[in-house]
Amino acid sequence: MKLSQRITHLTGGSSDGWDVFYRARRMISDGYAVTELTIGEHDIRTDPSILEAMDLSARQGHTGYAMVPGTDLLRDTVAARLQARTGVPTTRNNVLITPGGQSALFAAHVAVCDPGDVGLFLDPYYATYPGTIRGAGAVARAVQTTAEDTFQPRAEQIEAAVDGAVSLLINTPNNPTGVVYSRETLDDIATVCRNNDLWLISDEVYDTQVWDGEHISPRTLPNMAERTLVVGSMSKSHAMTGSRCGWVVGPEEVIGHLINLATHTTYGVPGFIQDAASFALNAGAELEEQIAAPFRRRRALAVGILEAQNTVGLIPAQGAMYLMLDIRATGLSGEGFANALLDTHAIAVMPGESFGSAAAGHVRVAMTIDDDRFATALNTICEFAADLADQHAVTA
Ligand code: PMP
Repeated sequence: MKLSQRITHLTGGSSDGWDVFYRARRMISDGYAVTELTIGEHDIRTDPSILEAMDLSARQGHTGYAMVPGTDLLRDTVAARLQARTGVPTTRNNVLITPGGQSALFAAHVAVCDPGDVGLFLDPYYATYPGTIRGAGAVARAVQTTAEDTFQPRAEQIEAAVDGAVSLLINTPNNPTGVVYSRETLDDIATVCRNNDLWLISDEVYDTQVWDGEHISPRTLPNMAERTLVVGSMSKSHAMTGSRCGWVVGPEEVIGHLINLATHTTYGVPGFIQDAASFALNAGAELEEQIAAPFRRRRALAVGILEAQNTVGLIPAQGAMYLMLDIRATGLSGEGFANALLDTHAIAVMPGESFGSAAAGHVRVAMTIDDDRFATALNTICEFAADLADQHAVTA
């Protein structure tokens, strides 16, 4: 039977670049002790106070269909949070609650892209981006950023790719690079969007994980609230990855249409999850800082370790739970390095190439194991890279 182009072409057909990850998982299930630094999941679980709120809500009966746009309480809480952080007037009518940020990314693209329209995204990118854009029926077009620019996008490069484009997807703080976009970068992006009548889809799921500088939401920039759809999530800020609770914030008209989309796709998010999310957000910044703290500590550890050697380069680790390491001095690709590291030292990291061609020659390290093991693994990575670089210097 024939299947749709949309579904058969969703992943682009080629290898998904996650071979090292799958190999590490197989080694673990075969009983090997592998140090896992691949995926972005906290090493703590959801806080017991949030689980209690979830339990209480479920026991009080919030196990039926919830309001499709989200509960009034959670929509008001998300609106107040964004307004407090950005100063942009925001009400519940600007908010759709979704089953996680991923579903919000998909919904945002469905809202603005017609079949055949181009959706722009920046390389390196979070693994699902191109498939999400294609899933919405659009053509996914990557715009390169470079390690030399510390992966801050440049307006000229976006301008050069803008033909046929209706949207631009950005992510700051960034996965996989750990970079936080500067005000200058965001001003330039906003100018490109205004000049070319692009929607800006701003993935801000790491907005509570900023180690250096400040997170600026582009929704705050002049005349941007009307063309920006902000994607947010409870996953990273509150260690609630499995609860599947996120949102799209944007102009009322768009949210109205997205409520129709939700009615015909997800039919909302469980009420007890939304009540737990409302509780968690109202618990305030202290709980968020407690959840971010291990990454803040490990990032400081990492900076110390990397400063003490000169083989591995560190892309400025300004935010999110990852380090992007430049291992080009070894002469290996990110993929070659990650495979060799797994074979010789049983440490699993993601090849930069898994996130697009712009991060070739890099590896992404998730800061998601306890501090001692993390520091040991990072030291091993640096020593391994130094040996490879010596050999490379002799043979080159
Ligand atoms: N955006 C980025 C950049 C991510 O890293 C992730 C998860 N790793 C998501 C969106 C989706 O997160 P969730 O669906 O759990 O909210």
